[in-house]
Amino acid sequence: MEKMKLSKFVNRYCIDKAEKFRLADRDAGDTGGLDIDKKEAKDLLAEGIERLSDLQERLYAQDRWALLAIFQAMDAAGKDGAIKHVMSGINPQGCEVHSFKRPSDEELDHDFLWRSFKRLPERGRIGIFNRSYYEEVLVVRVHPEALAREKLPAELVGKAIWNQRFKDIRVFERYLTRNGTRVVKFYLHLSKAEQKRRFLERLDSPPKQWKFSVADLSERRLWDKYMFAYEDMIRNTSTPEAPWYVVPADNKWFSRIVVAAAMVEALQSLDLKFPTVRGAALRDLEGARQMLRAEKGK
Ligand code: ATP
Ligand code: MG
Repeated sequence: MEKMKLSKFVNRYCIDKAEKFRLADRDAGDTGGLDIDKKEAKDLLAEGIERLSDLQERLYAQDRWALLAIFQAMDAAGKDGAIKHVMSGINPQGCEVHSFKRPSDEELDHDFLWRSFKRLPERGRIGIFNRSYYEEVLVVRVHPEALAREKLPAELVGKAIWNQRFKDIRVFERYLTRNGTRVVKFYLHLSKAEQKRRFLERLDSPPKQWKFSVADLSERRLWDKYMFAYEDMIRNTSTPEAPWYVVPADNKWFSRIVVAAAMVEALQSLDLKFPTVRGAALRDLEGARQMLRAEKGK
């Protein structure tokens, strides 16, 4: 049988007609017609990781482009697992993961993108943001007290602030793109019912209990507000150069296929090549080869 194409699992989750995007139209349980008990799905998972690993090697060797992968989701949607899975095929030297938590006092003394600048991937590297500056239009929008902590001058805080932030983020991502950092963004789309099931599983299983925090429940109560904020964020910040992928996340194995496939596609679009050695540098290599061959003894 012909090898399944990974890219088939990318395009339908990539948001292009952003202004019409509706979360309610998206099925969190979608598995793209795949069945994890069949070989096909397992092959795709393995293929994604293998391709990623090969592309990363070129990215690193070429040392021109960088990839920034952003993960956003409600609690228990599987961000950590998806990152762990994607990373499993990657050379740790060429990759850095950063988890953004509540901002520190020092961070609150700066503009909202400040702390992200310091964590951007170098050329040749993959940077992964586990949560990101998008929290500034999600948790901060849902919790007015979080915005109050940001110490903005009062006259700069009005109804327009979310649209202003969307605009600033679009400009920031365009800036990154123009400077050689490809940006891909994943929203792991979990259903409210599946979150409940996963929370209960965490509570019922001692090795998983540490993952549960009572605060997760208070965020769950704000589910509808979060969904509104996510939808508005995707509508306003999905751009051709930095699209959002709305990844069905009720089935972890499927969300991992989609994430790996989208990262493969993003890297493939960069036409990564191993640097070719030419001219004087090639002559140096020839000299080195002759010297090694001429060595006496072992
Ligand atoms: P996760 O839930 O992602 O697995 P975690 O449980 O290890 O992470 P938490 O402390 O629960 O760690 O998550 C980080 C918290 O910080 C989240 O509630 C998130 O909304 C919050 N946060 C992140 N960035 C910001 C921000 N810019 N402003 C306010 N809160 C933020
Ligand atoms: Mg948490």
